[in-house]
Amino acid sequence: MSRAFKLYDISPLLEPPIAVWPGDAPFERNQSLSIAKGAPVNLSSMSASLHTGAHADAPSHFDDNATGIDQVDLQAYLGPARLITVEAAETISAQDLMPVLEQTPERLLVRCNPDVDPRRFPSRFVHFSTQAAQAIGEAGVRLVGLDAPSVDFVDSKDLPCHNIFHRHGTAILENLLLAGVPDGEYELIALPLRIRGGDASPVRAVLRV
Ligand SMILES: [Zn+2]
Repeated sequence: MSRAFKLYDISPLLEPPIAVWPGDAPFERNQSLSIAKGAPVNLSSMSASLHTGAHADAPSHFDDNATGIDQVDLQAYLGPARLITVEAAETISAQDLMPVLEQTPERLLVRCNPDVDPRRFPSRFVHFSTQAAQAIGEAGVRLVGLDAPSVDFVDSKDLPCHNIFHRHGTAILENLLLAGVPDGEYELIALPLRIRGGDASPVRAVLRV
């Protein structure tokens, strides 16, 4: 007999209104066969940026010599995770994370954009400061995730937080939907697809209680 367990789905719905980074490819699903039109099956394909919805960034996203998403260590995306809320106006400081980092969580998810709407790209959003990224990396956190389209600020060109996380071997999840999930300890399951050389992959991210 299987025992039911509680899951929080922290993945935004993939549907055409979903926001993507300005200029990035929109999400589309195209139906090529339809039972309603006499076909034996429903069949569709999709077209999307690899950074659509909840996704894992590969190191090759910002470092041409680094590994693609098919080569990342999957253990980062599966296991104990702590969800915390940080109330910050613009950047998450190292100070904001001090209490939680002292307990060295294996994986750290940060809710910092409570009003996020997956259908609208935010003109500004809360992200990590480089000092916060450094503190997370130095604490040995294996994965960091947040409810923003980037761990860096929106106009960043050199992506300092992405690079700091990469140097410390900290995996990155972006665009998580954390509304309504209580802070606490969970098991995270958010495996990326095995896309050869992919600079990212959408994930179905869930938190198991
Ligand atoms: Zn990304």
